[in-house]
This record gives sequence, structure tokens and C-alpha cells, in this order.
Amino acid sequence: MTVMPRPSILSVEPYVGGESKIPGVNRIVKLSSNEGAFGPPPGAIEAIRAMAPEAHRYPDGSATALREAIGARFGLDPARIVVGNGSDELLALLILAYGGEGTELVMSAHGFLMYDITGRWAGCRVIKVPERNLTADVDGLLAAVGPRTRLVFLANPNNPTGSILPQAEVERLRAGLREDILLVLDAAYAEYVTRPDYDAGAKLVDATGNTVMTRTFSKIFGMGGMRLGWAYAPAPVVDILGRVRGPFNVNAAAMAAGVAALAEPGWIEKSVAHNTAWRGKVSEALSAAGIRVWPSEGNFVLADFGTAEKARAADAALRARGLIVRAMGGYGLPQALRITIGTAEECTMVIEALSAFMHG
Ligand code: PMP
Repeated sequence: MTVMPRPSILSVEPYVGGESKIPGVNRIVKLSSNEGAFGPPPGAIEAIRAMAPEAHRYPDGSATALREAIGARFGLDPARIVVGNGSDELLALLILAYGGEGTELVMSAHGFLMYDITGRWAGCRVIKVPERNLTADVDGLLAAVGPRTRLVFLANPNNPTGSILPQAEVERLRAGLREDILLVLDAAYAEYVTRPDYDAGAKLVDATGNTVMTRTFSKIFGMGGMRLGWAYAPAPVVDILGRVRGPFNVNAAAMAAGVAALAEPGWIEKSVAHNTAWRGKVSEALSAAGIRVWPSEGNFVLADFGTAEKARAADAALRARGLIVRAMGGYGLPQALRITIGTAEECTMVIEALSAFMHG
């Protein structure tokens, strides 16, 4: 007899890793994981190299240097920062600590997929709330909350829709939630936002005892392969995360790279300027070609082809030129493709391929 896991585990499909090869195609351009157009900052590459001879040493389990560097860069108290093996790990630890069997987790219908997957790992009932125009609906989220709800997740900006809630709406959400519900503001794409009425989450974390903000080095700092994320949380939540995380959950190379990335002069500014310009150009060009492009505040755009069949054909046309983007069937948007904003050359390739596809 096979040993059975908790039943909810079987409702999760095994993760199939980010595809990076197309048979028969030599030059691949990977625009499927929102990885940051410029790769890692040069100082981070140097820091990773410099760490190699020390690889026999366990890392600093309290991540002091990294937490201090994050705190200094973003004006936050290092004692309230927890680092993780990607922000995915921190999301999972929050669900492990505050969710579990018999609890409910509330999220937006097209919110980030890991909330659903991790919620199931933990045995939570996951409630997905319909959106308005692919944007989280605060009234809907509040109406979905029940006595067993312990966690509400909001990706702001959201992946894969690119949509955003202004600060006033996020505050309205928090104000409408019971105090025993943890609101997790996932701000993986915060740095890319250009709208002035936005706050990544720190204000609400400071103003309430039950809100957490998560951030990552995977996007703006181009360090997805290092697996480095962080959370800013009220002191009691920091205490709880300290109980559920592994003692050395972030490796030494990632920590050194993180410190160096934060010190790279002008990196965020340069990346944001590039992203804003090319997100605009890609959106305009695809719209002009007859594709519906949803407004995005992230480093990606959601291109809607109207039907699943047309999205599949567009995907095939992109792949024929070596361009890998993310099909959105798994997110319940089979008519759409999510395209990361890459370098100028990569964006130009996307524009040319999809313009030709639409006119062909
Ligand atoms: N949140 C959102 C909204 C994301 O899009 C991602 C990455 N796809 C993550 C969290 C996880 O990022 P990481 O684990 O690399 O920090």
C-alpha cells in the first residue's frame, strides 16, 4: 500500500520548471519569467565569485549584513526584515504559520498562482474572488471573507495581469478585514511602478499589526537564480517567521550578491527607465497590430488575442523565432500570453514577430 499524503497535496500538479530550450532552435530569448532585462548587477556577479572559496562555511543564519543593507536602502528597520529563499519561501512560511487545515485563504481570481498552490500544501481552503477588469476587487475580497479566513493575499502589482491597486484601495481592504486576518501584500514588482498613488506596503505594515509586505531580488535586481526575497513585518510576525524558517534558509552567495546589488549605483533607476520606455513601446506596437494589451505596472505585459486558438498560434509564431513567452492557460487566461520586457533588442524581436503574425 502506498503511503498517502494529506489529501490536498494531491490536488497540486508537480511543478514543471521554466522552459529554456526549443528543439531545433539555437538562439533562445527567454521572456517567460519576468526575470529583469539586464541580468544581475556587475557587483553582484563579483560578490558571488568572491564567495566561492568560503563555500564550506555555513551562512550567517541571522542575515545581519543583508537585512541592514535592505533596511538602509529602503528606509526600514532591519529588525523587522526577514529574508527567504525567494519570496516564494516567505509566502509559504506565512501560510504554514497562519493557515493550515480548517482555515481559508482569500485571493483574487487571477492572483499569483503560488498562493493557491501553497495554500493547498498547507490544507487551506483557497477562495478565488472574481475581478473587475482583471484588477483585484476590494468589495469582492471583503465579501468573500468568512469566520475561518486567516489570510488574504494581494499581489500589487499583480502577476500575470499587471494591474495595480492604489494605496487608498489597499487601505480600504485592510480597514475592512478583521484584525485576526493577516493581509499579505506581495510587492515583487514594486520598483517598476510609476503611478504616484502607490505604496508597496511598508506604510500599512507600520500602521497595523497584521500586514506583511514581501519583496524579491528576482525581478528588478535580475537575481532569480540566487533565490532571494525578503519580508517586512510587524515584530510578532517576525517572531513567528523566525520559528518556522530553516536556520540557514538563504545561502551565503545569495546574501553577498544581495548586499552588492543594493550598493550598485543607479541600478534601480536605470532598470525602471528602461522598463517604462519599453513597456510603453511594446504595448503601443502590439495594440497597433490589433492585440489587446492590458495596462501593466510590472516588467511584463499581458497580451490578449481574443481566443485560445489565436493565442496558441501566436505562441507558435514566437517560438519559431526562438522567443519563449508564458502561455496563460494555467492561470485561466488561455486567450492570453504574458511577455516579459527584455532588452531593447529582445523587445524589438517580439514586436516584429507579433506584428508579422497579426498581419500574416
Ligand atoms: N510574487 C509574485 C507576484 C511573483 O510574480 C513572483 C515570481 N514569479 C514571486 C512572488 C516569487 O518570486 P521569488 O520567489 O523569485 O522571490
